[in-house]
This record gives sequence, structure tokens and C-alpha cells, in this order.
Amino acid sequence: MRYALPGSDVGGGGYHDGMTDSTDALASPSHRPTSVEEVAGIIRSAVQGSVPITVVAGGHGPWSHEPEPGIRIELGGLAGIDVEGTTVRIGGGAVWGDVATALADHGLAISSGDTATVGVGGLTLGGGIGWMVRAWGLAVDQLIGAQVVTASGDVVETSADVHPDLFWALRGGGGNFGVVTRFDFAAHRLPGIAFAESIIDGDATAVLRAARDLLREAPRELTVTFMDVPPMDPSAPAGARLSGVWAAPDPDRLRAVLEPISAIGGVHTEITAPAYRDILIEMPQPEGEEQVTPPGFIGGNGLYADLDDQLIERLVAFRRAYPASVVFLRSLGGAFGEVPQEDTAFPARSATWFVMAGAFDIPGLVDDDTRSAVRADWAGIETGRLAEYGNFADTERPDAVPGMFTDEALVRLREVKSRWDPQNVFRRNHNILV
Ligand SMILES: Cc1cc2nc3c(=O)[nH]c(=O)nc-3n(C[C@H](O)[C@H](O)[C@H](O)COP(=O)(O)OP(=O)(O)OC[C@H]3O[C@@H](n4cnc5c(N)ncnc54)[C@H](O)[C@@H]3O)c2cc1C
Repeated sequence: MRYALPGSDVGGGGYHDGMTDSTDALASPSHRPTSVEEVAGIIRSAVQGSVPITVVAGGHGPWSHEPEPGIRIELGGLAGIDVEGTTVRIGGGAVWGDVATALADHGLAISSGDTATVGVGGLTLGGGIGWMVRAWGLAVDQLIGAQVVTASGDVVETSADVHPDLFWALRGGGGNFGVVTRFDFAAHRLPGIAFAESIIDGDATAVLRAARDLLREAPRELTVTFMDVPPMDPSAPAGARLSGVWAAPDPDRLRAVLEPISAIGGVHTEITAPAYRDILIEMPQPEGEEQVTPPGFIGGNGLYADLDDQLIERLVAFRRAYPASVVFLRSLGGAFGEVPQEDTAFPARSATWFVMAGAFDIPGLVDDDTRSAVRADWAGIETGRLAEYGNFADTERPDAVPGMFTDEALVRLREVKSRWDPQNVFRRNHNILV
């Protein structure tokens, strides 16, 4: 069955021989192509005219917010979702909420992220840590092929057997290698899920220790996330909470597995059996034309081998010290950890936790002393991480890019970049420099 969203071409369907010679292709700074050949025409014209390119899918990445001279290729017109058995072909501009909705009719799901409006493009190319990461791995671990418009304007198909170097690099190497106009995934059968929400009154240390201990042994069906946030918006109620997803519609099993956490004083756990689509968070959109500029963020993220006691103490103290701070954790391991390190460009397959912590730099509320203190505390938390996860690195920091990959992967990514994009046409990303 095919879900053709307005103006969508899932990729390949509308493709025909002979590219559009789009001499007018660059007349406007913003482009919303509806076919792969249109994308190819735009790329060719831009390269010919040395015009910088920004590629936008869901629009949540830092480069989508920061204007730069050149053109924006907005892929929202390529957002079709085509289901054939368990193979799902998704246009490069789709968002995960639409994917989850379309797949629900088929009893299928793909592990993506936790938010409905995030793009398939950016999330997948960077890895994709989602609600089912322990059950099924990263978003990229479910990727079986892609259609790419390369820097030369050619349209290529890639998979484990066809241009395997390109396919490897797309799985974690970001938008460095071309415009992906179609992602092909192997989806999973999912009759339903169980979902736990544990509100934590008071100190979160005991809960984090219990979660750490539990996840060392827990079945892969269980993935948990922890968040402790100040009042922000309706999608993220203030306070500390632990969420648990069980990758089957078995609330009793989830209740039993989470008992060591639910039994801790001050923890109030509610267990439900929602549809997978319903646990994807809807981010509130700014009203009207008004664009809200998010405040700066001092902090960062890391993939950690272990959530040891010292790291837990540092995270709890960090959140307590700065009222406008956030702490997020996600459990890894399970299927995520079984993918051999060299199979994809994603770093740190031995990580068992992902951690993000930082404070908002709100003008008037945060002074220089506080900024310095936050930076020093974050430096302590950062110590010992295996790698940084590029998708949650919310600014362009060229010096940080090597820390987002293993040394071996970086060498390989440079080789692939020099083969497929030697002129660095695609550089508005965590850029691989040859
Ligand atoms: C609210 C929120 C929730 C998030 N939740 C999660 C989560 O649960 N798990 C997780 O792993 N990450 C999560 N992220 C991080 C997210 O994965 C990254 O921000 C990602 O880059 C967003 O992708 P996008 O397509 O929405 O953004 P975009 O800004 O459109 O894309 C980001 C970059 O990816 C490249 N790109 C995108 N699409 C293509 C394409 N089709 N072809 C070539 N290059 C492309 C471009 O370089 C682009 O600059 C979240 C981010 C936000 C803001």
C-alpha cells in the first residue's frame, strides 16, 4: 500500500531518463522539489554555479535554523511512505510521526526517535536512538537501502550489495554524501507495546542506580529513558521521570520488570498499553508567523560504557545546581550493542547509556560566573564518554567532529567522502573533511 502525502514522490516513482535541465533552478533561495530528478537538477545547477546548499528534512538540525548564503533544498515534497510486506520505502523529507501512523495500519513499526516532527532524513543519517533501541537497534540498523542524489547530480541506488561504501557511510555519517531522496527500511511487526511512566518525587539518585542495575540484566524488550527538566512546555512536564517501553503489549510483564524501580519511595508508576504512534511526542509549534529563537545551551552529550555512581552523582548535582538545566538519559545495549562496530559509521556500540545534560543560557538570568560553573561541571560529566552523538550536538563545531566517530570510522568516512563528494558540496552538517 502506498501513502502518497500531498506532492510526494516516495522516490524513484516519478523518476525518468534525462534530468531536468533546470537553468532557472536557482532563481529562488528556497526549493521544494517533488521528484528525484528535480533534486538532481537543483544539485547540478548549484554545483555549476558554486552555490552553497542546505538540505532540510524535518528541520530540527542546527543548519536548518541558521541562515546561510546559498539555497535551501526542503524535502517536504518527497514524503511518501510505501509499504510492501515489511519493506518500507520512505521519501527523504518525511517525518517520523507520519511514518508511525502509516505503519500502524499494517501492524508494523520502525525504531526511530521519540518525537513525531523529527525528520527521517536527519535522524536516520546520524543514527537514530529511539524508544525501541534495545529491542531493534538504531534507526540505521533497520535501513536496507537508499536512493541518493550525489554531488555530481547522479541518482544512485545503494544497499549492502550496491555501492556498499556509500551505504556504510550513510548509516551514521550524516548528510555528507548526497541528498537521500528515499530510505528503505526493514520494519518490525509490532502488535502493541506497554508503556510505563514513573514520576519521581525527590532525589533521583536511587532511581538512576536501580535503573542502571536493572538494565544490565533486563530483556531487550525494555528500553528506558530518564528526564529531569524545569517547566518548559506541555510536551515535557517539569520534574524527574523515568519512562519505560516494553516492545510487546504486555503491561503485566513490564510492571513486574520495573518493580525494583516502582518500589523506591517517592516513585509513582503508571502502566498503560498505548499504540506506538501515541508515545511519539508532539512538539508544540509556535503560533502564527512568530518564530521563537531557542536560548543557547551550555552542556553536551555522550555515549557511556556504564552509568557509574560517580556519573549519576554528577548528573543529579548538576540538575540541582542550575534551575534552568536539563538531564536526559536513554538506555542502550540489547540489539544496539550486538551490531558489530565496523558495520556502520555510528560510534560506541559498547555504550550502555546515552546522556545529555546542559543549562539554558537565558539572557538576564544567567551571568558569566554561572556560565563558567556550568561549563566546568559539564566538563566533569563529559569525562569518560566514549563518543559524542552528533544528532544531539546542536551547533556546528568542526573541531568536535572527530569525537563523533571511532578513529577507524573517521578514516573510512574520509575515503568515502573523497570518492562521492570530493568538492565538499554537502558541508552543512557535521562535516567530514578529507
Ligand atoms: C525535539 C527533538 C527531539 C529529538 N529526538 C531525538 C531522538 O529521540 N532520537 C535521536 O536520535 N535524535 C533525536 N533528535 C535529534 C535529531 O535526530 C537531529 O536533530 C536530526 O538532525 C533532526 O533531523 P531533521 O531531519 O528533523 O532535521 P534537518 O535539520 O532537516 O536535518 C539535519 C541535517 O541532516 C541532513 N539531512 C537531513 N535529511 C537529509 C536527506 N534526506 N539527505 C541528506 N541529508 C539530509 C542535513 O545535513 C541536515 O542539515 C531530536 C531533536 C529534536 C529537536
